[in-house]
Amino acid sequence: MVKEIDKLDKMKVGCPCGGETEKIKTKWKGIPVRAWKCLKCGEEILHPLDAERAMVIAKAIENKELSVKIRKVGKSLTMTIPSKLAKFAELHEGTIANWSINSKKELVVEIVD
Ligand SMILES: [Zn+2]
Repeated sequence: MVKEIDKLDKMKVGCPCGGETEKIKTKWKGIPVRAWKCLKCGEEILHPLDAERAMVIAKAIENKELSVKIRKVGKSLTMTIPSKLAKFAELHEGTIANWSINSKKELVVEIVD
């Protein structure tokens, strides 16, 4: 699996217009994806793996599958990470994450490793 991703990353992707492409990071429905952008016509070709993952996440958001209820464990509150989100971010048991805050309504989790 990992080897396949590496191969894709090193692959030269040509645009149907015949133009050269460069690797970029872009967003699809607000979800970050890797892509190639044509230097001639500006067409963006999404990384197939990222596009597939982004579609799963977009659908999960739409279906409210990423909504969770905060629960109490001892003195702390806890919330679960939906499996689709965990898969997207490649989280596993033991992953270290840091909390930060944008606002009272927007808490941010930064995945360290
Ligand atoms: Zn092109």
